[in-house]
Amino acid sequence: MLLPALPGHPHFSYQGNALFAEAVRVSELAATYGTPLFIYSKAAMLSALAAYQRGFEGRDAQICYAMKANSSLAVLQVFARADCGFDIVSGGELERVQAAGGDVGKVIFSGVGKTQAEMRQALAAGIGCFNVESEAELDVLSGVALAMGMRAPVSIRVNPNVDPKTHPYISTGLKGNKFGVAHEDAVRIYRHAASLDGLKVVGIDCHIGSQITEVTPYLDAMDRVLDLVAAIEDAGIALAHIDFGGGLGIDYNHDTPPEADALWRQLLAKLDARGYGGRKLMIEPGRSLVGNAGVCITEVLYLKPGEQKNFCIIDAAMNDLPRPAMYQAFHAIVPVEPRVPQAETLVYDVVGPVCESGDWIGRDRALNVAAGDQLAVMSAGAYCMSMASNYNTRGRAAELLVDGDVARLIRARESAADTFRGELLLP
Ligand SMILES: *Cc1c(COP(=O)(O)O)cnc(C)c1O
Repeated sequence: MLLPALPGHPHFSYQGNALFAEAVRVSELAATYGTPLFIYSKAAMLSALAAYQRGFEGRDAQICYAMKANSSLAVLQVFARADCGFDIVSGGELERVQAAGGDVGKVIFSGVGKTQAEMRQALAAGIGCFNVESEAELDVLSGVALAMGMRAPVSIRVNPNVDPKTHPYISTGLKGNKFGVAHEDAVRIYRHAASLDGLKVVGIDCHIGSQITEVTPYLDAMDRVLDLVAAIEDAGIALAHIDFGGGLGIDYNHDTPPEADALWRQLLAKLDARGYGGRKLMIEPGRSLVGNAGVCITEVLYLKPGEQKNFCIIDAAMNDLPRPAMYQAFHAIVPVEPRVPQAETLVYDVVGPVCESGDWIGRDRALNVAAGDQLAVMSAGAYCMSMASNYNTRGRAAELLVDGDVARLIRARESAADTFRGELLLP
């Protein structure tokens, strides 16, 4: 029989008629741990990381995993043990790095709205660098550092303003979004940073967007950033490192992003050609390290045929898998153990139990399913659990990390009591 293809997921496969995560049968995990259930492949994470490591072989480069993509402690441990630093966006994420045994000296702190308390926390911990996103933040950070008798290591996030007409899908590296400082203002703002006693300028950074599937925007952004590096260093301010951010896409639905090593072959060639090949490099990949390392297993609760639409109602919902509701994003949905013999498929909207019309996981999907069947929502390793909520007082799902033939529970399923811990009754 014809089994569904699993593009982008080399560590998940059908063996016989059953979906496996590495060497573990998924239906057995679902029977043991219940659904909805996130299953991650450690080998998939490490092979995604290895593509970057190959790309940077022989270079002075630091990979800082952008942990907002998936900040579960055991996932952080996998990357910490593989020598990664972390790109964080909150004081809470810093505490997660510490709890997972990560190297705080390899932490970079991004984000447009750092509080003074978060700055103090990060300075006291000794993080590697603050990626500062505005002039006002520079002044506040300098003051906070001076009050602690310190100098804060800073890099300024510049906005390369890569031409939207050429690359209309890029969402964070354009004028008119809240991230970074404008290209035209960068040299002036660097001069200001260098004049502040509480700061030590160490680098420059950019991050142009997410789910980028082409090389050209990266090449364009690199040119723009290197122009600034030259101008800033002409002004007498040395930049020890250049950070090119994250953003590399994954295959959700016939997407064809470059491999990380192929991308960096081209980028490093440009860097060499422009004379910056020996500079310390940093990158902040998130999605591309974990997105296709995870799936979410869910059970079909009801089939609900309708005049205009058939609905396949599953036990996972927008609180577990927020990307379709938030961005109309696509996740492939495949049967965990396809029915044999295959009856005719029907076209369904796959929806969750949450009381919102936005609670859909997939639209117009041809499936051959019955109530009680399990489905795998693919590409669920990034921006799913880390964005999960307790809406409708649904406890967050359990998570497993598979390593070869061993599956380890890395997050227990939340109970209802877990979801209202910390709430106080009136007297
Ligand atoms: C989100 C984010 C990243 C990671 O983006 P991905 O698309 O997941 O690779 C990197 N850097 C910054 C500053 C971010 O905000």
